[in-house]
Amino acid sequence: MVGDAACFLDPIFSGGATIAMATGKHAADTVDRMISAPDSEVDLSSEYGNFLKTGYDTYARLIYSHYKHKYNIMPTLAELGVELHDGNLDENKALIRLMCGDFWSQDNMVGELLRKHSDFDTFAPFPRVHQCPFYGAGA
Ligand SMILES: Cc1cc2nc3c(=O)[nH]c(=O)nc-3n(C[C@H](O)[C@H](O)[C@H](O)COP(=O)(O)OP(=O)(O)OC[C@H]3O[C@@H](n4cnc5c(N)ncnc54)[C@H](O)[C@@H]3O)c2cc1C
Repeated sequence: MVGDAACFLDPIFSGGATIAMATGKHAADTVDRMISAPDSEVDLSSEYGNFLKTGYDTYARLIYSHYKHKYNIMPTLAELGVELHDGNLDENKALIRLMCGDFWSQDNMVGELLRKHSDFDTFAPFPRVHQCPFYGAGA
């Protein structure tokens, strides 16, 4: 399954189209690899599922952090130790990247902090796949 057929989240931060395209491409690549290496089908299928979960889990954390304090993300970020102001360019950049679909990379400090917030877990524990199609080393 890809996109909304796999998981639908409140489109409050416009991540739905990004995840639909990212999972669609990853699913096509996975099927291509399965055709080349049928013996790896189970492992490839599991890797695809974990890629999909990594994307939705991170996007969900962003949405939960917005809802937690009545549609204001700032208090949750402050709880995580993220202070957004003009001089804090790394934090600002990380949050903007997250809002633009940086759901897979490991070098987004806001995403990494949100992943440690166990109240925001969507799935049972799973190995994350940090192959971001858009940002970071895997891009
Ligand atoms: C009100 C609203 C606002 C949104 N705003 C945004 C936004 O600003 N930014 C953003 O990124 N995302 C937004 N989203 C989410 C985004 O639209 C979806 O996440 C995205 O379109 C999912 O793409 P998809 O290809 O998985 O599914 P869909 O876009 O739903 O595509 C599925 C397609 O399959 C077709 N279909 C269904 N059943 C069959 C069948 N049996 N046979 C053949 N065809 C079939 C459907 O007709 C449809 O065309 C919003 C969603 C809603 C509801």
